[in-house]
Amino acid sequence: MSGSTIIPWVVGNWKMNPMQANSQQLIQDLKQQLKQNPISEQQCRIGIAPISIALLSVQQQLLDASCEILSVAQDLSRIAGTGAYTGEVSAELLKDSHIDYVLIGHSERREIFGDNVNVIQEKVKNALNAEMKIIYCVGESLEQREAGQAEQVVLQQICDIAALVKAEQWNNIIVAYEPIWAIGTGKTASPEDAQTMHAKIREGLSQITPLGAEIAILYGGSVKPENAAELAACADINGALVGGASLNAESFYQIAQAFAKSK
Ligand code: PEP
Repeated sequence: MSGSTIIPWVVGNWKMNPMQANSQQLIQDLKQQLKQNPISEQQCRIGIAPISIALLSVQQQLLDASCEILSVAQDLSRIAGTGAYTGEVSAELLKDSHIDYVLIGHSERREIFGDNVNVIQEKVKNALNAEMKIIYCVGESLEQREAGQAEQVVLQQICDIAALVKAEQWNNIIVAYEPIWAIGTGKTASPEDAQTMHAKIREGLSQITPLGAEIAILYGGSVKPENAAELAACADINGALVGGASLNAESFYQIAQAFAKSK
């Protein structure tokens, strides 16, 4: 037991997967797992971030789950409101469809889609203005870690958004620490290394906001049923952002179960 009072979060990031039929089956299987062995919302909050065109059908399919499972957007536009912006989905449009949570700053967006600090700041501003809750992803590359810069990089990423978040809005922020070298590689940070970084993030957040001790800090990077319990036992690891393993209902359920049991 970690002794933390923060309710853990386990969020599945489906990325650009799967096809419709598999998505429906995956949700069915997850609901079945939860029906057989329930996890209460006090034990662990569960979210799923499907592809954008599936957000509403997944949300619909989750309505009769035995516990609330939130539909999370993987991204949002850096433009607010509505208008002539082909291909974009704004925070307001997400909110209008009752999507309350969004990932911002995922390393794949930063690295592949050019989400630089300015873009990320615009997205954070828009999400907060629309009263969305943000899962804000931070993490260092392998080169940065090997150069001893991991902590500095991650804390800078927190600082990048600090001035945009009003005092009470820290309630709407969840941080996900995802070392880039661990994402989709099968390599997980050791629980000790992850805890060390999470403690630094907690310290950084606490210098910025009195709510620092209450902000959930999730770990992401090849979380699997085999390593979830060890990670969940760490004091400042308040959940997981799960990529690959979230595409298997049983694995995802087992990770949620590990966090639900540990706190
Ligand atoms: C992610 O993309 O957020 C992630 C953590 O992926 P994986 O679990 O596959 O490493």
